Amino acid sequence: MASRPPPAVPGAAAPSPFDAVVVGGGLHGSAVALFLSRSGMRVALVERGSLCRAASGTNAGTLTMQMTRAALIPYALAAHRMWASAPEWLGHDVGVTVRDGLSLAFTETEAAMLEERARARREAGAPVAIVSREAARRIEPGLSRLPVLASHCPVDGFASAYLTGLAFRRALVAAGTRIFEHTPATGVEPGGARYVVRLADRPPLEAPRLVLAGGAWLEEMAGWLGVRLPVRALVNQLAVTERLPPVMRTVVGVASGLLSLKQFGNGTAVIGGGWQAAGDRGRGGGALLPGRLVGNLRLACHAIPALRGARVVRTWSDLEAETRDALPAAGPLPGHPGAFVCGAVHSGFTSGPWIAKLLADRILGREPAMPLFPPDRLIEEPQGGTES
Ligand SMILES: Cc1cc2nc3c(=O)[nH]c(=O)nc-3n(C[C@H](O)[C@H](O)[C@H](O)COP(=O)(O)OP(=O)(O)OC[C@H]3O[C@@H](n4cnc5c(N)ncnc54)[C@H](O)[C@@H]3O)c2cc1C
Repeated sequence: MASRPPPAVPGAAAPSPFDAVVVGGGLHGSAVALFLSRSGMRVALVERGSLCRAASGTNAGTLTMQMTRAALIPYALAAHRMWASAPEWLGHDVGVTVRDGLSLAFTETEAAMLEERARARREAGAPVAIVSREAARRIEPGLSRLPVLASHCPVDGFASAYLTGLAFRRALVAAGTRIFEHTPATGVEPGGARYVVRLADRPPLEAPRLVLAGGAWLEEMAGWLGVRLPVRALVNQLAVTERLPPVMRTVVGVASGLLSLKQFGNGTAVIGGGWQAAGDRGRGGGALLPGRLVGNLRLACHAIPALRGARVVRTWSDLEAETRDALPAAGPLPGHPGAFVCGAVHSGFTSGPWIAKLLADRILGREPAMPLFPPDRLIEEPQGGTES
C-alpha cells in the first residue's frame, strides 16, 4: 500500500483519526474507500448492513454497453476493462465473464428503436453493430427465430454480484480501511473544517472529507446537509433458474430494455430487465408482482426457447437508485467543501468502479481522467415556505 500524505484541506485544524468518512458500503462507497485508502488516506467506511449486500450484491451482474446511457459509454468501457482485470487491481476474482451481447427487436417499431440506440452508442465509442436475425443466430445458436433484427456488442458480459462484496472486504482490510458494518449513520453535522458523522449506538466519526454513497438512500443522506438531491428508487425484480445444460452463450436483452438474460457457468440462468415489483425505500426490497414476473419470464422464453422447460428456483427484488437523467451523481456537494456524493446512476454496477476511481482521484487532488458528474444539475431549491 502506498503511504503518501493526503492533500491538505484548507482550514483543517486539530488532527482527526480519519482523513475521510465514506457513508454507504455498496460498490461505489467501497471502491472510493479502497482507492483513497490505497493512496495513503485514513478512511472509515460506514455501512448499516454488510458490505455490498444491497443493490451491489443483489443485482443481475450484467456488464452492459447496450443498456448504458450513451453519455456514459466511455466510462462504461473503462469500467468494463477494470472488471475484466479485477484480480489485478481488486486482488480477487469476482467471476467476470466477457461475452458477446445481443439486443433484440421483435417488431418493426422496436427495430427502429434498436437502430437509433445502436447509432448513439456507436457514436459514443461502443462497438455496437446492427446484425440480421441470421447473423444473430450464428452468434447465439440458442436464439429463437422471432427477432426481426438485433444489435451486437462484443464488449459485454457479467460478474458475480455476490462475490463482489467478499472481494472488496478483503481488499479494504488489506488497504487498512476501518470498516464499520451493521452501523447505520443517522446524520451529519458540518462542523467547520470537519464533518461529524453520527452513528447509531456508537460515538460519532469525524473527518475533513465526507463521501455520501447511499444508493437509493442518497437523497436522505444529502438531506442531512440540507441539500435536496432527488433520487428515484426503482424496485427491480429478478429470477434465477435451476442449473441447466448450456442453453445460451451470450448476454441477451431487448430494445425496450425489458430483458436482461444470461447463463452463468454453473448452469443457472438469471432473468431480469427492470420489471418493477411493489416496494419503496422505507421498507427496502419489495414484494414481487406475479403478473410482471410472468411477463419477464415469457419474454425470456421468447428469446431463448430452451428456457421454456426450466424451473425457476428463486425470485427477488431490490432497489436501484436513479437520478433524473439516469447519469451518476459523482462529485463535490456544492456549498459543503470536502463533501462528495457518488452513485445513483442507472446500471451502476457496470460503470461503478471507474466512476469511483474518478471521484477518488478528485478527492486526492488529482485531475480525473474523465470529467465527473457533479450533482449541481440535480439539486433542487427548497419548495414553498416563507421565511418567518
Ligand atoms: C435487482 C437489481 C438488478 C440490477 N442489475 C444490474 C445489472 O445487471 N447491471 C448493472 O450495471 N446494474 C444493475 N443494477 C444497478 C446496480 O446494482 C447499482 O447501480 C449499484 O450496485 C449501486 O451501487 P451503490 O454503491 O451506489 O448502491 P448500493 O449498493 O445500494 O449501496 C448503498 C449502501 O448504502 C447503505 N446505506 C444506506 N443508508 C445508510 C445509512 N444511513 N448508514 C449506513 N449505510 C447506509 C446501504 O445499506 C447500501 O449498502 C441492478 C440493481 C438492482 C436492484
